[in-house]
Amino acid sequence: MNRSPSSSSHRQPRRNPRLSHLRCISCALVLPLEDSPRGCPACEVAARPSSLEAVYGDLPPSVRPSASGFQWGEWLPYLEGVSLGEGSTPGLELPRLASELGIAKLSVKHEGMNPTGSHKDRMSAQAVSRALEVGASSVVLASSGNAAVSAAAYCAAAGLRCEVATYRDMPQAFVAALRRLGAQRFAFDRGAERWEHVRRRVEDDGAFALTNYCLPPVGSPVFGVEGYRAVALECAAEGCIPDHVLVPTARGDLLWGLYSGFRDLRLAGLIDRMPRLWAVEPIPRLSRVLQGERAQGEFPGKTAQFSIAGGTVTLQQVHAVRRSEGGAVVVDDAGAHRGTSSLAREGFWVELCAGSSVTAVTQLLADNRIAISEHVLLVLTAKGDRDPFDPAVIS
Ligand SMILES: [Zn+2]
Repeated sequence: MNRSPSSSSHRQPRRNPRLSHLRCISCALVLPLEDSPRGCPACEVAARPSSLEAVYGDLPPSVRPSASGFQWGEWLPYLEGVSLGEGSTPGLELPRLASELGIAKLSVKHEGMNPTGSHKDRMSAQAVSRALEVGASSVVLASSGNAAVSAAAYCAAAGLRCEVATYRDMPQAFVAALRRLGAQRFAFDRGAERWEHVRRRVEDDGAFALTNYCLPPVGSPVFGVEGYRAVALECAAEGCIPDHVLVPTARGDLLWGLYSGFRDLRLAGLIDRMPRLWAVEPIPRLSRVLQGERAQGEFPGKTAQFSIAGGTVTLQQVHAVRRSEGGAVVVDDAGAHRGTSSLAREGFWVELCAGSSVTAVTQLLADNRIAISEHVLLVLTAKGDRDPFDPAVIS
């Protein structure tokens, strides 16, 4: 959204007229522009649940921000809608850390600078605009933190009820934010219980789903995930097309949005190559799938990197890394702490999983999957103010 003084946080949603239909990202089945939080019906029947993507008519001929409404609205489902000033996050070069890591160029996209402190605001702006357009009165989601606070803020701006299914041990900073923003919180011990709660509210009561609720999972619903394409567009508008992009990943919404944005920029002839996308994960999940295990399996493991915890994989993350010729890197909690401290020495206060990308660079260099002459972009997913303080590991 423009940040001129005349901008308001709530405009009547205006759908992008270029948006023509939805398409399965796996089997290419074409579907009308209707909400389908379970993803592709054909792939669901085949026991390989798969996300949908939006298909636009002619792509814009240039990579320039829109004159009004959402900054990249012509590339997104909505031209105008609910905004709190998300996007236009800083893209910064870190020459000192680059030299420490032994790489030619290192830059960061600081998504913690979004209104509620995380990249999730890009999804909330588009998805809550969708919820308003279809006349929903309640938005419901399952979240470990960042998405919950973001949804609560955008629902407050839109005048919609927000219900969040969370874990019982959600960090107190999130609990306080949800209470202040007026969201209703339901706490559970297990991920599957959270998703069952969301399923009931969506399928039985008609609430609008902001996130997945199926197991095996799909990504979050398409009208929200499309919002992440703007990260790629902002990079391109700044002339920043890195060789590699590293993304802390749980179920791959941001990863897919980046892939989709860069792919369409390339199809429109506006960039000349696709960066290789790397999912950084706290336990081996996608890594195991890329080595041949079924994506629909379960991959249990514990981590303090709560924003990217969970034991499942989605096909959208598999496709994003395979189609961009990237892959997956596992960084444990000790590695994430080291990386977060490296970023802190550069002045960046980010959540634990955002630091894992720094350590992932070292691993990819050691494996010769990144060359020392290349440019690596790290997506800093959220600010560090929600991480529980643990004096044993933060010194
Ligand atoms: Zn399909």
